[in-house]
Amino acid sequence: MFDFQLDRIVAWIRDGGYSSVALQLPEGLKIRATEISDFIIDSTGVDILVVGYPCYGACDLYDYKGKTDALVHFGHSRIPSQGDDPNVLYIESRSDATMDASVMDVLGDLPQRIGLLATIQYIDLIPAMRSILESTGRTALVGEGDRRIAYPGQVLGCNCSSAESVIDDVDAFLFLGEGDFHPLAAAFGVKKDVIVLNPITKEVRDMAETRDRILRKRFAATQSAKGAQSFLVIVCSKVGQNRSAEADGVISKIRSHGLKAYKAVMEEITPMSLMAYRVDAYVNTACPRVAMDDSARYERPMLTIPELDIVLGDSEWADYRFDQIRP
Ligand code: SF4
Repeated sequence: MFDFQLDRIVAWIRDGGYSSVALQLPEGLKIRATEISDFIIDSTGVDILVVGYPCYGACDLYDYKGKTDALVHFGHSRIPSQGDDPNVLYIESRSDATMDASVMDVLGDLPQRIGLLATIQYIDLIPAMRSILESTGRTALVGEGDRRIAYPGQVLGCNCSSAESVIDDVDAFLFLGEGDFHPLAAAFGVKKDVIVLNPITKEVRDMAETRDRILRKRFAATQSAKGAQSFLVIVCSKVGQNRSAEADGVISKIRSHGLKAYKAVMEEITPMSLMAYRVDAYVNTACPRVAMDDSARYERPMLTIPELDIVLGDSEWADYRFDQIRP
C-alpha cells in the first residue's frame, strides 16, 4: 500500500491558507484523483484543479502559478537542483512494505560488498536491508547522489549518481524496487551487476539480460543514423528536462561535421509531435529514456547526446555512455 498522507495534505493546506490547490499525479496514480479531491474538498473547502497532462517525474512539475495558490505533487520526491518552493508539497507515496532476514533465502549467494539502491517508494527499506546484509558479514554501502537526487541510495531513470559515488567500493548493487525503469538506469550507468529485489513479491532478478537487449537496440539505432545528413535536436520545455545549453553544444557539433541541425522545443515528445519534420534523425536532449526505451515508436532513429558522438565518429561504441541529466 502506498501512503497518500491525506491528513498531512489537509493540515498543509490549512496552515498555508490556500484557497485553490492543483493536484499532479503520475499516470499510475491518476485513478485515485477523484477520491483524493473529494477528501480534500470535504476537509478544507478549497478549489481543486487536477492536472490532466501526463506526468512522469518531478522533472515535469506543473507551473501552478497564476492558476492556483499551491501544488501537491504525488509519487515523486523533489529534485533539489530545481529549488524549493514553499507552495509545493511532495507526497512521495512511500510503500509500507517491510523487510526481514528471511529475504536472504531468496537473494541467494550475493558478493561480499553490496551497494544499496532504491526508488523513492522503497527508500525507507534501505536501513533494514543494510542491517540484514551486515549481519551476514557483508559490507553494504549507500551512496550520496548529486543535486538531482533527494535521498542517499535513490535512483532516477535519468540519474544514478548515488550508485556512481560508491562504484569503486562495491562488487554489485542490490536494487529495491518494482519494474525495469529505474534499475535499468543503474545497470546502464555503472557497468556492474545490478540485482533487483521486488520488496512486495520478493522476486529477484538480474538486470544484465534486459540491459544487453536494450543496448543491442541502441547499437542498431546508432548504425542506422550513420550517414544521416540532417538532425532535429529536441529541447524539452519541462523544468527538469530542459537542457538548452547541451542542445546548443549538440547543434554546433553537428554543424562542425558539415551536417544540418535544427532545434525544436516541445513539451511532450511523441511520434505525432515529430511527424512533420523532414530530417534523417533526432537527437533528444530531454528525458533520455524516451530514446532508450521507446525508440521503436519513432520512424527515424532517435539518439541520446552521447550516442550522437558515436554516430559522428567522435567516440567508439566500446565507450558507450548512458545519458544522465545532471543538476
Ligand atoms: S527526466 Fe525522465 S527519467 Fe528523469 S526524472 Fe524525468 S521522467 Fe524520470
